[in-house]
Amino acid sequence: MKPDRREIATTVANDPASYKLCAVCGAIVDREVGSCPDCYAYRFDMDVSHVADAALDLAVLPQMTVSHFDLMPEGGDEADADDES
Ligand SMILES: [Zn+2]
Repeated sequence: MKPDRREIATTVANDPASYKLCAVCGAIVDREVGSCPDCYAYRFDMDVSHVADAALDLAVLPQMTVSHFDLMPEGGDEADADDES
C-alpha cells in the first residue's frame, strides 16, 4: 500500500533532521540510507531547511515523479485511499 504523501510530509516537516534530500531526483529519504531507493544515487543534500522545504512542497504539489512505491505490485483489491480532493 502506498503511504499517504501528506502524512509523510508532516512527519518529515516535524523532524527534518532525520531525513535528507536526494541531490539527483529530489526524493526525501531517511538519513541512515546509503543510496536513494528511487534512483540509486548516493549524493544527498543534508541541509535541514532544504529538507523541510521539500516536505512542504510534497504536501501541496501534485506528484510529478514515479517513486519506488509506484512500482510495487498492489496486493489484492484496489486500495485507493484518496478520501478528499
Ligand atoms: Zn534519488
